[in-house]
Amino acid sequence: MKAKAAVFNGAGKPFDIREFEVVKAPSGYGKSELIASGVCGTDLHFMRGTLYVAPPTVIGHEFVGKLTECDENEAAEYGLKPGDNVIADIAVPCGKCLLCRTGDDANCVNMGLTNGGSIDEPPYLYGGYTEINFTPLTNLIKIPDELDPKAVAVFACPGPTVIHAFRLAERANVTINGDTTAVVQGLGPVGCFAVMYLRSLGVKKLYAITAGDNKKREELAKEIGADEVLNITRDGKDAITEKLQNENDGLGVDLCFEASGAPSAVPQGMNFLRNRGVYLIPGQYSNSGGAEIQPQLITFKALQMIGSSQYSVPDVKAYLSFLCGHKQLQKTIIEMGSFYHLSDVNKAFDDAKSGKNVKTLLIK
Ligand SMILES: [Zn+2]
Ligand SMILES: [Zn+2]
Repeated sequence: MKAKAAVFNGAGKPFDIREFEVVKAPSGYGKSELIASGVCGTDLHFMRGTLYVAPPTVIGHEFVGKLTECDENEAAEYGLKPGDNVIADIAVPCGKCLLCRTGDDANCVNMGLTNGGSIDEPPYLYGGYTEINFTPLTNLIKIPDELDPKAVAVFACPGPTVIHAFRLAERANVTINGDTTAVVQGLGPVGCFAVMYLRSLGVKKLYAITAGDNKKREELAKEIGADEVLNITRDGKDAITEKLQNENDGLGVDLCFEASGAPSAVPQGMNFLRNRGVYLIPGQYSNSGGAEIQPQLITFKALQMIGSSQYSVPDVKAYLSFLCGHKQLQKTIIEMGSFYHLSDVNKAFDDAKSGKNVKTLLIK
């Protein structure tokens, strides 16, 4: 038996579709068949050359599939059995470093990755852009039968990314409730999920900030929970800042979630947050340059600025629980996915780069 995979050849180069021999799952691994695998912002960074991974390799880390082969006794330890739908979580924390020992394994300093294996040695297929994937059982999480795995795939990485940021906020004793006025900066996959998540927390007022001309995205943001969408291109940055500073009787907003990745978003957020406002910043994942900030605002307003980058298994589980608790969102979530056949990976990437899709995914 053979399986196709899209091989990444380095920044700026097209993917090749190659066939690989499908081998038996090694001990400790599960073999899964592709259902859907998302194209992440990280993958776009690899293509642009703003993040590096050594080619040739099978990239992608948002694999959702059906577990077809594994040692059943080993799998049972992780609550898995053949036939289960699963998410493959990419992060392999070392378990030994200072961060791992103190409850921050998502920020392990020796983080391993499940998709780092060589395509020249069996079982070859560790990444996301493949018809068959091999992932250690420790990193496979069962998708509850009540969920549509395609819906799960849409936010397989943005969902846990957002949830981890909120988990860190919780650890800082941040409360979010019916009195909270919140802003989400950016309406990519992370921003859209943050809108849904904040809405589910019952915030009083929820703004989303975007830029450029994308009416459809603005309507979508309202459909999934934003009360108002502000557009930097249309409304002007200063006018938006001023409007948000007027919230809470002129104190500013309570919470801001940065999901745009634009360095310039950060000084703006600091400006419209209120005293003791909370700034969650998971959006600045690659180095897109600097921005001038007034550090004085951090002190004077006693801002709570919380960074967040990766996630680990508990966040993926929390994401699945969120979806189980909000099944009414499933249909809309699937509609937010643009699904391409694996063989159309180059077209999928072009469309993902253009920003026209909320979320780009590959299917068999
Ligand atoms: Zn991702
Ligand atoms: Zn560690």
